[in-house]
Amino acid sequence: MIRFDVLTLFPEMFEAVLGESITGRARDAGLIEMSFTNIRDYSANKHKKTDDYPYSGGGGMIMTPQPIYDAYAAVTEGCEKKPHTVFMSPQGAVFNQKKAVELSKFDRIVFICGHYEGVDQRIIDMLVDEEISIGDFVLTGGELPAMTVIDAVSRMIPGVLASEDSYRNESHFSGLLEYPQYTQPREFMGRKIPDILVSGHHKNIEIWKRRQALITTLKKRPDMLKTAPLTDEDKKFLKEFNKKS
Ligand code: SAM
Repeated sequence: MIRFDVLTLFPEMFEAVLGESITGRARDAGLIEMSFTNIRDYSANKHKKTDDYPYSGGGGMIMTPQPIYDAYAAVTEGCEKKPHTVFMSPQGAVFNQKKAVELSKFDRIVFICGHYEGVDQRIIDMLVDEEISIGDFVLTGGELPAMTVIDAVSRMIPGVLASEDSYRNESHFSGLLEYPQYTQPREFMGRKIPDILVSGHHKNIEIWKRRQALITTLKKRPDMLKTAPLTDEDKKFLKEFNKKS
């Protein structure tokens, strides 16, 4: 069980996405808990303002520290220890599967979503344990990034997926991309599935899957092969494959 608390100016965006499908079912089953807090509700300003002009000049608005700080204090009130706190930011370390597994070990994570030109640096200095980016590009807000991270972390919580195999074989978990997948019908518009998959020979199917994962990774993300944990058998197969192609 893990709890996600999100501080955002747009809480309704989260329910629409995370309340559905696998994450929605995981919440109903009590495997994950999610709470989306509107930072604006904590603004001490009489007009509920949450942003202001940057001292450095330049365009755009910066989210002021007071509403975020007070929202954080309210959400974490009564916690025995400070929950792991993540600021979604294009300046953070780029998110990946390893980080999803690492975050899934926490009982509780608070996500702070910036918007406009970002948040006052003092919030990051005072509250944040790590900054996470979802890629080297800039979005309008931290909401989509936080949803992305919550979705990926939730899948790592035991019971959320039907079986651990569902993610163990998946792209990135083992350092390789996944082998091609096929379902019914056995033949579609003249294209048949590989015979091996209906051979009933489990050992050969496992070998086929591993080799297809190696070929897929080689073709789509050869950079990953530099760090993937490859067996001698894998290396031999890749050498032969490279010679042939
Ligand atoms: N001025 C900031 C900068 O140059 O670093 C960018 C601000 S961005 C327009 C507004 C907010 O969107 C950020 O504070 C952050 O919360 C979120 N954001 C934008 N791109 C992101 C990314 N790639 N990963 C995670 N969060 C992102």
